[in-house]
Amino acid sequence: MLAYTYIKQGDFRLLDKPKPVLKDERDAIVRVTLGSICTSDLHIKHGSVPRAVPGITVGHEMVGVVEQVGSAVAGVRPGDRVAVNVETFCGECFFCRHGFVNNCTDPDGGWALGCRIDGGQAEYVRVPHADQGLSRIPDGVSDEQALFVGDVLATGFWAARISELSPEDTVLIIGAGPTGICALLCAMLKHPRRIIVCEKSPERRQFVQAHYPDVLLTTPEECLEFVRAHSGHGGADRVMEVAGGDETFHLAWQCARPNAIVTIVAMYDRPQVLPLPDMYGKNLIFKTGGVDGCDCAEILRLIAEGQIDTTPLITHRYPLNRIEEAYQLFESKADGVMKVAIEGIR
Ligand SMILES: [Zn+2]
Ligand SMILES: [Zn+2]
Repeated sequence: MLAYTYIKQGDFRLLDKPKPVLKDERDAIVRVTLGSICTSDLHIKHGSVPRAVPGITVGHEMVGVVEQVGSAVAGVRPGDRVAVNVETFCGECFFCRHGFVNNCTDPDGGWALGCRIDGGQAEYVRVPHADQGLSRIPDGVSDEQALFVGDVLATGFWAARISELSPEDTVLIIGAGPTGICALLCAMLKHPRRIIVCEKSPERRQFVQAHYPDVLLTTPEECLEFVRAHSGHGGADRVMEVAGGDETFHLAWQCARPNAIVTIVAMYDRPQVLPLPDMYGKNLIFKTGGVDGCDCAEILRLIAEGQIDTTPLITHRYPLNRIEEAYQLFESKADGVMKVAIEGIR
């Protein structure tokens, strides 16, 4: 089968590999019908994910059809259409039982697919702990509608959940890339008083304006002044930092009102400075981390009800055998690309 493979730093290649087989009674084999490329895939390509194993098939955003299940799998059956979770988790350890599945202590726990074990930019993928890692896609929800459930949309949903949004809040979202848009969609579910999106790219600001006309838009240069002018108490009540730039961390806490919640969703390339003397007395609550992707069933239900729609994010489509071109486009951010859908075998 075709499998897009991490060879070494800077080198991904489409190889012919054997089809995966069940290795454990809790595994499932999924035929990938639609996948995508994530910025984390580029991080692997650029060598900034040291735990990524050379030789593995990359890709951790996908939907497909269950082909085969191990004897201990109870939640899905062959023929089921499923969304695949970026995170592998056992469902039984201390962290899983508390919903902190990102910190699952199983040897396969955390971000394994397409990083430490073979992922889904391929015709087939083996999913460990299939009862946790696969969510049945409701009838009437298309592959494109479900494509981001297990990764960027799970991240946006988690970010909105831990940000504890309420209807009185002015919410600032820094960054309108795919994850920022997913955070925006999930923030909108909570109907806050006002949402402000800060984004440096004019193309992406235009995307937000075209699809979500009620959202207020600003640029990093004007953000601080804009947020102060458009919020009730000298700053945003809730800030979600999704951009991950060198200046955006500072912008996030500077734009927050005293006692605000600042949620750091972004993954930074470099350490960031927390200037405690400058923020003394502001009494901020920082929440940081990587997604706990344990709400996929609820997210799929919201999609089925028409409350979340991420399909506008799919700006380009390529078949798996042209994934090279898809990477070039995604990496160059050309042609207004937000997300690329990679079509597998139907
Ligand atoms: Zn990802
Ligand atoms: Zn666990």
